[in-house]
Amino acid sequence: MKHLLVMKFGGTSMGSAARMRVAGSICAEQMRQRPVVIVVSAMSKVTDLLLDTLRKAEGDDRAGLDANLAQLEERHLQTCRELLPPENHVSALEAIHSIIADFRRIAQGIMMLGERPPRSVDEAVAVGERLSAHLIAAHLEASGVPAKPVNAAEVVVTDAVFGNATPLMGPTRERARKTLLPLLEAGILPVVTGFNGATLDGRPTTLGRGGSDFSASILAAVLHASDLWIWTDVDGIMTADPRLVPNAAVLPEVTYAEAAELAYNGAKVLHPRTLAPLVAKGIPVWSKNSFALDKPGTRIAPTVDAPHGPRAVTSMGNVALVSVEPANPELNSVMVMSRALAALAQANAEVLAMTSSSYRQNFCFLIRRDELPHAMASLETAFALELAHSYLKPFMVDENVGLLAIVGEGMKGAPGMAGRMFTAISRENVNIIAIAQGSSELTIAIVVRREGLEKAVRAVHDECRLGK
Ligand code: ASP
Ligand code: MG
Repeated sequence: MKHLLVMKFGGTSMGSAARMRVAGSICAEQMRQRPVVIVVSAMSKVTDLLLDTLRKAEGDDRAGLDANLAQLEERHLQTCRELLPPENHVSALEAIHSIIADFRRIAQGIMMLGERPPRSVDEAVAVGERLSAHLIAAHLEASGVPAKPVNAAEVVVTDAVFGNATPLMGPTRERARKTLLPLLEAGILPVVTGFNGATLDGRPTTLGRGGSDFSASILAAVLHASDLWIWTDVDGIMTADPRLVPNAAVLPEVTYAEAAELAYNGAKVLHPRTLAPLVAKGIPVWSKNSFALDKPGTRIAPTVDAPHGPRAVTSMGNVALVSVEPANPELNSVMVMSRALAALAQANAEVLAMTSSSYRQNFCFLIRRDELPHAMASLETAFALELAHSYLKPFMVDENVGLLAIVGEGMKGAPGMAGRMFTAISRENVNIIAIAQGSSELTIAIVVRREGLEKAVRAVHDECRLGK
C-alpha cells in the first residue's frame, strides 16, 4: 500500500495510561497524513508476569496463581479506568475480563496437567499483547481515530517451532492483505498484537522474547510499507550500552547489516531478526524514543553515509563457551563439527561465535546461557557413543565468560583494527579467551573473562573514540 507507515510500540511505550496517550497522539498525527498500521507489545513486565503465572500453575501453586491473576487484572483495569472516558468503561472492562478469562482457562489446564505444553504457553502468553491492543484501540476510537484490535494469530502465519517460530511470508502476505487492507481502505487503523502468530492450521505460536519488533517488520514487508518506526524508551541505536559507558552516543544512521550485528551481539534496542524481512525491499527503519519526541532517533537503511572504522561496541554477559575436543586422532574432526552444529540446530540454540584450531582439532562455540541445558542435552545425545568410548573428551563448559563485539561496515580492509582492540583490552589486564571475525569484516567478536567484560567494553569504546 502506498505511503503506508507501520509503527511498533514497545512495552514501556504501552506501560501506562499516560504512555498509551502519548502513543495515541503519535498515531493520530500520522493518520492525518497517511495510512498507518500499529503493532503493540504487552504493557511492560506483563509477559514476565504471564510466564511466571504459568510456572506457578505447573507447580500447583494455587495461591501464587491467584495473586498473579489479581495483579494482571488490576494493572489492566486501572489503566482502562485512567485511559478511557467513563461511558466506555463497561464495554472495555468486559473485553479485558474476557481476554483474561482465556488466560485463566489455559493456566488452570496447565495446573491440572502439571506441565506446560509449549503451544498452550504460546497461546496464553499472547494475552499480554491482546490486552494492550484492546486498550489502545479503544483509546484511539474514543479520541476520534477509527481503530480496531487485530489478533496476529489471524495474520502472521508461522512454522510450528513454539516459543521461537519463523514466519511463512507467502501465507502471511495473503492473510495480511485479506484482513488489514480492507481496514486501511476504510480509514481504520489496525492495532495488531506483536509477538504472536499461528501455524497454517491455526495452532498459536510466538516469535521469541522481544519478538514484537519482528512482528512489525514482517507486516511492513508483506504490506510493502514505505517506513517502519520502532518506538522504544531509548534515543536510538547507541555506540555502546550507556549503563556501561556513560559517554556513549546515539548513532544518527546505521546500515541493516550493522544494526543486525549489534542486535545479535547483545544490543537490546532491536530484536535480532527484525531486519531480515525488510532487506529485499529496502524499507527504512527508524528507532525512536517515545519518551523524547524531539530526538530524531536512528535511521536504519540498506546503505548510509558513515565515517570509516568501527561504529559501536556491544556486549553479552549471559553466555557460555563450550569446547569440543576429540581424544582420538582418527576421528574425522570436520564430521564432529558438522554433527555438533546439527545437534545445536536441533536444540534451537544459536551459535553466537565459533572458532577452531587445526592440530588438536578442537573447536569452541559460544551460546546463550539460557540455551545451554537444551544444547548440552542435544550434544550428549548426538555423541553418546564417542563419549562412552573416549573418542571425544568430555565437553568443557565455561560459564564465566562474556562476549564483546565491535561492529562497523567501515572496518573492512582497514588494517590494524584488531591489533588496536587487543592492545586496548590487554592494557586493562583483561585476558582474551577466544576471537572470531567473519570474512565480511563487519564484526570482531572477542570472548573475555566475565569480570573483565565491562572494563574491556569501555577500553575499546575509548580506543575507537566512539563517545560524545
Ligand atoms: N511482550 C513480548 C516480550 O516481552 C514481546 C515484545 O515485547 O516484543 O518478550
Ligand atoms: Mg523490545
